[in-house]
Amino acid sequence: MIDDPLVKSLLTNVVEDESNLPIVQALIDGVETDEAIAEKTEIKLNIVRKILYKLYDMGLATYKRSKDPETQWFTYSWKFEEQEVINHIKSDSEEYLKMLNKELEKEEDTMYFVCPQGHIRLDFETATEYDFICPECGEELEFFDNTNLIKQIKDDIKTVESNYKSFTKRLMLKITWN
Ligand SMILES: [Zn+2]
Repeated sequence: MIDDPLVKSLLTNVVEDESNLPIVQALIDGVETDEAIAEKTEIKLNIVRKILYKLYDMGLATYKRSKDPETQWFTYSWKFEEQEVINHIKSDSEEYLKMLNKELEKEEDTMYFVCPQGHIRLDFETATEYDFICPECGEELEFFDNTNLIKQIKDDIKTVESNYKSFTKRLMLKITWN
């Protein structure tokens, strides 16, 4: 599951550093307690705990607390919430695509003017209000060709769509994530 690019990027964001991913993998493999995870991953216990609570904050992990009848100590058994990971990726990807498409539409519909010194980029209407003069340095604004920017946004959309497609395909095929 962790090898999927979207899953990996979501989880890496949560655990802050790729070197902490083995903690998540241990959890996916069914290792339940912080101590067992620390032992298996050889990552310090305090870091394991920190990461577990980060996952918990995002809803990506939950725990059950139980009391040892002999020692009276509490044990926490942790569980990875796969469905929440799926939900997060779905909504993140949809939101990101929506944003990119909106950005693309705007770039395609708008004529831009820029300061040659790079101070500002204005649409035609706003540039008119400034008489095509940069409000910061007084230089005349130049037409901005956004062809490359549009191409870049289109490429980004393609990448997001293809990543999301392969993610849902793997989900539907129910390939074992682990
Ligand atoms: Zn300027």
